[in-house]
Amino acid sequence: MRIIFLGPPGAGKGTQAARLVAFLNVPHISTGDMLREEKRRQTPLGLLAASYMDAGHLVPDSVILEMVQQRLARPDCAGGFLLDGFPRTVEQARGLDQMLHQRNQPLDMVLNLAVDDEELCRRIEHRRLASAAQRADDDPRVVPQRLAEYRRLTLPLLQYYREQGLLESIDGVGTVDEVFARIQNVVERVRST
Ligand code: AMP
Repeated sequence: MRIIFLGPPGAGKGTQAARLVAFLNVPHISTGDMLREEKRRQTPLGLLAASYMDAGHLVPDSVILEMVQQRLARPDCAGGFLLDGFPRTVEQARGLDQMLHQRNQPLDMVLNLAVDDEELCRRIEHRRLASAAQRADDDPRVVPQRLAEYRRLTLPLLQYYREQGLLESIDGVGTVDEVFARIQNVVERVRST
């Protein structure tokens, strides 16, 4: 299956995505993880990306699209994939549509994990306190900026994919098991149609 996983920062996408890729046996393509790895290795791409990420801004679309295009060309994506944290803008979604159209690989579904703002801030703060390797962008002074970028640039994607008939929204509040059970239900339903 070819799935996009959408949701605001702190919604628990990473945790649920890890379970979902194990369930579906497809690669987990997280643009945030890819960028953090580039940053750790201090590559030119990593250094460029860090200047945006650490301030809570999105990395430019052209940079992200090039990175994703290369990743999707790898053989492990032939049987499907889960995109996590990408696309984040309508421009990226259009770029992805073009890439997948060229490969004759249409998307199967877009999963949106819905969590309200108050719960999001609570979860991000919890992750910041619990994590040894602290993320600069989990800083409480940066989180509102990330949420604002999400609302302005990423939220319009819900309408974009709703119009394509691909959107499935899931309530992201509950235990990890409860939320995953909801995701499995939707995936099974879409898979059997
Ligand atoms: P994430 O781990 O998905 O929350 O991503 C962490 C940070 O990486 C984001 O706040 C952005 O600065 C950057 N990033 C990750 N994915 C994208 C994307 N698709 N477009 C632009 N910036 C991204």
